Formats: sequence, structure tokens, C-alpha cells
Amino acid sequence: MSKLPNVSTSIFTVMSKMAAEYNAINLSQGFPNFPVDERLTNILAKLSKENVHQYTPMAGYPPLMNQIVKLIESSYNRTINPDLELLVTAGATQGIFTTILALVKTGDEVVILDPSYDSYESPVLLCNANPVRVALNDDYTPNWETIEKACSAKTKMMIINNPHNPTGKILTENDFLELEKLLSKYPEIIVLSDEVYEYITFEEKHISAHTKNFLLNRCIMVSSFGKSFHITGWKIGYTVAPEYLMKEIKKVHQFLVFSVNSISQVAISQYLDVVDVNLLGKFYQEKRDYFQKLLQNSRFELKPCEGTYFQVASYANISDEDDVTFCKKLITDHGVAAIPISTFYSDHKDQKLIRFCFAKDNFTLESAAKKLYDI
Ligand code: PMP
Ligand code: GLN
Repeated sequence: MSKLPNVSTSIFTVMSKMAAEYNAINLSQGFPNFPVDERLTNILAKLSKENVHQYTPMAGYPPLMNQIVKLIESSYNRTINPDLELLVTAGATQGIFTTILALVKTGDEVVILDPSYDSYESPVLLCNANPVRVALNDDYTPNWETIEKACSAKTKMMIINNPHNPTGKILTENDFLELEKLLSKYPEIIVLSDEVYEYITFEEKHISAHTKNFLLNRCIMVSSFGKSFHITGWKIGYTVAPEYLMKEIKKVHQFLVFSVNSISQVAISQYLDVVDVNLLGKFYQEKRDYFQKLLQNSRFELKPCEGTYFQVASYANISDEDDVTFCKKLITDHGVAAIPISTFYSDHKDQKLIRFCFAKDNFTLESAAKKLYDI
């Protein structure tokens, strides 16, 4: 008997594979296609000949952990204790999985806001717990009334993703006030805040859970160097949690991976001395603006994008087909791959919306736009 009977191959894998088969331009799975910063590849090349190939300590390479402490201090003015509150993980995915496995028990409920990234539900199910999926409003703002209705004495965890994949929406100060009000009524609920796109916001600044006092003792923050340094394949990130939760998270981590690959930890610890994460927002804002300009007179209707490197677009003017069928035809008939938004909903709500990834060099964006323009 399957432990995850309703889980099939992830839509990101399906669409990327199909894009390769049909030689389509791949704007589906979220990864950059431009070269990585040479300062980072130079560090890596140099390190390969040094003595950095053995296990690091279980929770992370100490100099990297100190660099992460500094990064959080400079970004959010928060000081964390690396020995007690920090864990280096094999990507944010492992941080999310490990956290849920360590903290959620049989029969617990976990609130997940739809549309939602695909890594949240399965670990909850593997804990014999119940995902409670609550739809965001049509403009992708959280509906705090319906979220509150979904909470009960059984609710163990609420997962928030800010900036939000796939919609590019970010949470506001008012959202955090509403969250604070709600949590004050439910002292048992802990929050898992997935902030992998924390440095990729545009007109409005990202508000991190790190900056909210009411969350510090009940929130786990997950981040990814894959997103911040254009190295999704390195699978390296980190998780921050208060000591009493981190103690449990580390118990699972040591049996899941024990420690994260050493050379990338050392390389990133050195790279953090020279890189400025604050340039990332501007970099991707230019990409967003360029992609939007290329598509502005097309038949796609582009939705607002406040952060992340994803652009949601409606094709309602083009076709009545459901979004999965439309995305498949977009590959086979038009040579561009995208992700159908219905796959981010538990009830596969089809709204004729698809997601494009604009973390691509300008030539790729131009070539894709030319094809999309003709539809
Ligand atoms: N959370 C979100 C919202 C994501 O989009 C992704 C995809 N990269 C992840 C987590 C996973 O990050 P990583 O590749 O570091 O595991
Ligand atoms: N986070 C990536 C996206 O949203 C996918 C990562 C993956 O394929 N697991 O496209």
C-alpha cells in the first residue's frame, strides 16, 4: 500500500521533461539559465584542491553558520545563536520536510494556503497528520477570516510562503497584524515561514518573520541559497528556529542527511564575504519589467508580480482549455513551457492561469516572447 497514494511526479519535473523532449523554451520549472557569479565558481574551483571534502559538523560548517548569523543581522537586525537556533540544510526542501517530520504528530492539522508550493502537503501526510488547505482570496491576499475558521485545537502548524510561489504576492504589515491576532487565540500553533525568495522583491520591501517579535518563539524560517545565488542545483539552504523546536528538528536532520555537502558550505561561507544580496531585487525587477514589456501587447493578461521570479498570466482570451491541457499544447504547438496554476490547489481549481519563470537570460526571454506573441 502506498504511503502517498495521490502523489505523482511533480509538475515541475513533468513540464521540464516535456520541454526537453519537444525542444521547447523552458519557462516552467524555476531555475536560472544564466551563468553563476564568477567569484563563486572561482572559489569553488580553488576549494576543490583543498582539504574540504569530509563531513562538516552535523548542524553546519561553523564559519558558514557565523556568516548566516551576520546575514540575518544585517538583513533583519535579529541576532540568533548559531549553536542553538540554526541548521544548514540540503536546500529549503529538506528544511521543510525535516521541520514537519520533527514537529507534527498523528492527527495534528496543518494549515496550508492555496495556491501552495508542492513540498508542504506530503510530509504532513507522512506524519499521519491532516493538511487543511485554505484558499487565498482571488487577488492572492490571505483571507484571515477563512484562515481563522480553519484553525482549531487540533491545529499544530500554519505554513506561510512569503514572497509567494507561484503568485509573486508578498505579505503586508496588516497581514502580520492579523496573524498576530489569530495566533494570540491559539497559543499552540507554530508557524513555518518559507522565505526562499526573501531577497527577490520589487516595489515593496519583503517583511520577514525574523522581524516580528510575536513570531520569534514560535516560528521556523526556511531559506535557500539556491534562490539567492542562482544555484538551485547545489541544494543548500538553512533553517532558523527557537531552541526548543530546533532541538527536535536536529534529531531528525541527523538521521535524514547528518550533514550537508561540505564543499558547497565552505564555498558559500567565503562567497558571503563578497556578495551583496541586496542587489538581487533590482536584478530580478529588471527581468520582470523586460518580460512584461515583451508581452504587453500579447493576448496573455499578466497579473501583478511583487516578488519571486515568477509571472502569472491569464490565457482566458486565447483558449477555453483547462490549464494543464493548455500548458501541454503550449509546449507541443508553440515551443514554450510553463506551469499550470491549478496544480498548486488541492481541488485543482482551473482559472486559465499559468506561471512563467523569468529567471532567464534576455535572449531566452525574447525568444519565448516571440513565440508567445504569435498565439
Ligand atoms: N519553497 C519554495 C516556495 C520554492 O519555490 C522552492 C523551490 N525552489 C523551495 C521551497 C525549495 O528550495 P530548494 O531548492 O532550496 O530546496
Ligand atoms: N521551486 C521550483 C519551482 O517552483 C521547483 C523545484 C523543483 O522542481 N522541485 O519551479
